[in-house]
Amino acid sequence: MDGAAGGAGQDPDAPHPAQQAPGEELPVALLQQAVDQVHLAAEDLEEGDDEEDDDSEASGEDEEDEDEEDGEGVDVKEDVPDPSDPANKGIKLYGCEHYRRRAMIVAPCCDRPFWCRHCHNAACNDNEVDPKRRHVLDRKAVREVVCGLCGLRQEKARSCSGCGVAFGRYTCLLCSFFDDDLTKECFHCQDCGICRVGGRHNFFHCRTCNCCYALSLRDSHVCIENSMHANCPVCCEFLFDSIKPINIMPCGHTIHQECLRSLADHSTYTCPVCMKSIMNTSAMERVWESMDQAVQQTPMPTEYAGMRVNILCNDCSTRSAAPFHVLGHKCGQCGSYNTRRV
Ligand SMILES: [Zn+2]
Ligand SMILES: [Zn+2]
Ligand SMILES: [Zn+2]
Ligand SMILES: [Zn+2]
Ligand SMILES: [Zn+2]
Ligand SMILES: [Zn+2]
Ligand SMILES: [Zn+2]
Ligand SMILES: [Zn+2]
Repeated sequence: MDGAAGGAGQDPDAPHPAQQAPGEELPVALLQQAVDQVHLAAEDLEEGDDEEDDDSEASGEDEEDEDEEDGEGVDVKEDVPDPSDPANKGIKLYGCEHYRRRAMIVAPCCDRPFWCRHCHNAACNDNEVDPKRRHVLDRKAVREVVCGLCGLRQEKARSCSGCGVAFGRYTCLLCSFFDDDLTKECFHCQDCGICRVGGRHNFFHCRTCNCCYALSLRDSHVCIENSMHANCPVCCEFLFDSIKPINIMPCGHTIHQECLRSLADHSTYTCPVCMKSIMNTSAMERVWESMDQAVQQTPMPTEYAGMRVNILCNDCSTRSAAPFHVLGHKCGQCGSYNTRRV
């Protein structure tokens, strides 16, 4: 399974699907390579850029808003909305740092409008000084919106009952989610129960992992029950909902891409959950090769000559004996340095 770019479908609102683990290390080159792969599968919030392909229906089959061009692979970016239609007024001119949209959602918890749940959570949780008042928005509980153009507060809908403007070119009423940026290719996954980005045609929902993953992971990922319904082992943020890119390590455990990168930056190549190596075999082999060289170039003092230690490999679980060295001990079976003394 190496090299495969993976990606768990990110949820625009919640986000990212997971990707296959990047390589790290020695890095940067490898890591960069791996990270590039990741980007193929899932882009994140603020960079809904290109590489998107076609078909607008991928962005919301359940609820097609007004852009339903349908048809044969229409280029999403180019489907130009009819400017004379009042529903198309103000496209991309309204919204917050997170989304371009033309309605604010009314948070039922505080009875106040916010552009999006991230804006709400920033104000009411992250930046709330009183710990007792901190709370996050339940997107399913949202019932009302405020039109961004005319200011009318109303039941949530696809368009304003006052001025007729559409609240988003992509709309999901289940998630109370609106987005004028179609290049993100939002779609609602029934099984995840949330909207994700990256195009429905690029993902499948794994029922074991219980999350959307990139198609490239269909036959190559290690399934772990509810693996995306876990906290990042580095920063502890809940992953299923995270809007940051997520990677799936070869062991099947999930982690933020940036958190994985920080492990590699600190020359840590083991999964914090299970201790297996964090990159695929070919990427790790390059790390072990450089370890071989380092070991060779660092002879141990003569008093250690011939000393051997018993080790257990975290990757292949084989026990073996290896020459003692301060830099590490190489598994006699698979060649990994991800071993511990026993
Ligand atoms: Zn926002
Ligand atoms: Zn309005
Ligand atoms: Zn949705
Ligand atoms: Zn899903
Ligand atoms: Zn799975
Ligand atoms: Zn993290
Ligand atoms: Zn693991
Ligand atoms: Zn081994």
